[in-house]
Amino acid sequence: MTDRTIEHFTPAAPYAGLPSYYAATANSTPRRPELLGEETCDICVVGAGFTGMGAALELAERGYKVIVIEGERVGWGASGRNGGQLVNGYSRRMQEVRKHYGADAEAAFGAMALEGQAIIRERVAKYGIQCDLRAGNAIVAMSKPQLRELAERTEEWHRHGHSEMFLAEGAEARKHINSDRYIGGMFDPKGGHMHSLNYVLGEAAAFEGLGGRIFEHSRVTHVDRGAVPVVHTAKGKVSAKKVLVCGNAYLGDAAPDLSSRILPVSSQIITTEVLGDDLLEELFPTNYCIEDIRYIPDYYRRTADGRLLYGGGTVYGGTDPASIEGKIVPQMHLTFPQLKNAKIEFQWSGNFALTMTRYPQMGRVSDSVYFSQGDSGHGVTTTQMLGRRLAEAIDGQMSKFDVFASLPYIPFVGGKLFRVPYCVMGSWYYGLRDKLGI
Ligand SMILES: Cc1cc2nc3c(=O)[nH]c(=O)nc-3n(C[C@H](O)[C@H](O)[C@H](O)COP(=O)(O)OP(=O)(O)OC[C@H]3O[C@@H](n4cnc5c(N)ncnc54)[C@H](O)[C@@H]3O)c2cc1C
Repeated sequence: MTDRTIEHFTPAAPYAGLPSYYAATANSTPRRPELLGEETCDICVVGAGFTGMGAALELAERGYKVIVIEGERVGWGASGRNGGQLVNGYSRRMQEVRKHYGADAEAAFGAMALEGQAIIRERVAKYGIQCDLRAGNAIVAMSKPQLRELAERTEEWHRHGHSEMFLAEGAEARKHINSDRYIGGMFDPKGGHMHSLNYVLGEAAAFEGLGGRIFEHSRVTHVDRGAVPVVHTAKGKVSAKKVLVCGNAYLGDAAPDLSSRILPVSSQIITTEVLGDDLLEELFPTNYCIEDIRYIPDYYRRTADGRLLYGGGTVYGGTDPASIEGKIVPQMHLTFPQLKNAKIEFQWSGNFALTMTRYPQMGRVSDSVYFSQGDSGHGVTTTQMLGRRLAEAIDGQMSKFDVFASLPYIPFVGGKLFRVPYCVMGSWYYGLRDKLGI
């Protein structure tokens, strides 16, 4: 039996016109007005993704008068299009944090590593968000060197107090993921998966329930960064005490000094027809979601209505490949040859923001304008935690914000013109290592 009846399966009118499974199965949500004329508030947030909505909700809970300005619709960016995988940790290993920034930074990163998933679980419970949240994720290995790395990572997490993560090999691993492609993996019961778009729509509803206001179809053209910052759109402006810029990979010209610090990278996802629970229970006996350990991983999971949602691949610069299906389906067949005849019903692409270091970027561009961006492909949980860091900073609690804000900014090698070829070269190198299984 499927565990949820999809009540809003309306492919003829998907949310925001997007071609994704998420858009076709989005919970009903109001259309928000466009910003017309002048508004004032305490805090103006640019971008209604996980980072912006999370920070806005947190600030509304703390009693601030908050306005969110979104260029398209709530969750239109990466937050409403991703794999929905709650992967604890960062895009870099903890030993790398220590190597780059020292033991204190490692301890601080470690202490915050599981906060994002806890925030998601808290909000789902507190606001009754219907987003098919399920427990458990795994990072899996195809070779012995990869499995050794996962064993090291498991020990690293245990050292940071996250003792629930465990390594499993062979038959033990197959109890969670039934594919010949893997020899084992690191399993995390505190990870999980969810319908990402419905989660962010739920955050928006909770925010509005606390008196917050959202304007959609209102792209920010620029932000005046003076003592009283002003956020401008084509037809209106918002004066605030503080502004949070959370446009991530879609920010574009609204703040060129911020968007030049990241590289938009697209990733692609397909979703099959409904496969039925018998087959899916055979493939995913514990309903964990799966990501492999490669530099450019495959990531996939069951959906609540009995499909396989399978993602992978990247295009540096954030464009779409010629054929999403052509790129992802062969990977899916390698993992699950028994799905050779499965029909693909949805396919889409979305952009995340890569930083040169693969650590997130957070900070201030003036006394009154703050930003957070660049989760480098692992943002479902991290953005929740960083959204909270932004809200705390507005409230004068700077210590955890400063852990991230104090990381040095390192520009892309090759500058704006050559950062794409540079990253392609880098990924070719890591891709070769992946092919060799090292
Ligand atoms: C295909 C894909 C799969 C992924 N899978 C996973 C996964 O399974 N697990 C995981 O941990 N991470 C995953 N990620 C990464 C994760 O989705 C992101 O890190 C996260 O959603 C980023 O959230 P955000 O709020 O910072 O950015 P976004 O969600 O992109 O939100 C930014 C918002 O700002 C708006 N905006 C931008 N500029 C302006 C402007 N000038 N004016 C007004 N509004 C503006 C945009 O319209 C957008 O709605 C994936 C990403 C992609 C693209």
